[in-house]
Amino acid sequence: MKLTVLGTGSPPPIPNRMQTGYLLENGQQILSIDCGSGVYNRLCDLKVDWEALDTYLITHHHLDHMTDILTILTGRWLLGCKPATVYGPVGTEDLLRNWMKLFEYVHDFVEVDIHDVQGGQTLDLKGFHIETMEMKHFVTSLSYKFDSRLAICGDSDPIPELKPFSEGCEVLFHECSYTDDQADNGHTNPTDLGKMLAGSTLKQLWLTHFYPKAAESESRQGIIDGVKKHFEGDVVLVEDLQTLEL
Ligand SMILES: [Zn+2]
Ligand SMILES: [Zn+2]
Repeated sequence: MKLTVLGTGSPPPIPNRMQTGYLLENGQQILSIDCGSGVYNRLCDLKVDWEALDTYLITHHHLDHMTDILTILTGRWLLGCKPATVYGPVGTEDLLRNWMKLFEYVHDFVEVDIHDVQGGQTLDLKGFHIETMEMKHFVTSLSYKFDSRLAICGDSDPIPELKPFSEGCEVLFHECSYTDDQADNGHTNPTDLGKMLAGSTLKQLWLTHFYPKAAESESRQGIIDGVKKHFEGDVVLVEDLQTLEL
């Protein structure tokens, strides 16, 4: 499988970092996870096959994870693509249908299947076996684990369930909104995340979703040191369009 990170930013504006999004490929089978602002343009630049990209997972109902979904669905409709399917936490169908109603042409013409997903539910999509887990955030936030090899977490405080969920995975993507000297309510700082993964067999932790201070180059070493005080695997601070092959 190949993963392309479409955006590593967060709600505040940061140059060269789009908001959250991932493109996951397994041969001809593709799907995406989250579509914050900028993700649509990233996918356009990658010349993605829009007909094939018909499956969209959403981690949670915050704008930096889903603002581009209506733009994508409408763009696909204008290309004549068959309807897409969107999966997200409970309430996704209500939220998206209500949002679509605000734009008459979207409501009248854009067709989409929408499925609410409970934490703990499993999905089999595009050749991937997907496990889910609920995180701890301001709203219901899901993590998705693909074929027991790759896990992508929704925004969250670091939670104890993270270690068993990611055990045996090769790579875990987790947010790192803050540096250690910032508050961590609803989000993550490096040392707390490292503590949650102490003793884990996880090989690589890829950090993303940086707020402005955490995105500064001067903060990089402190973030890595904070995590590695407790976590023994590799730590990667992710850039937009970085790719991972497993
Ligand atoms: Zn976010
Ligand atoms: Zn969030």
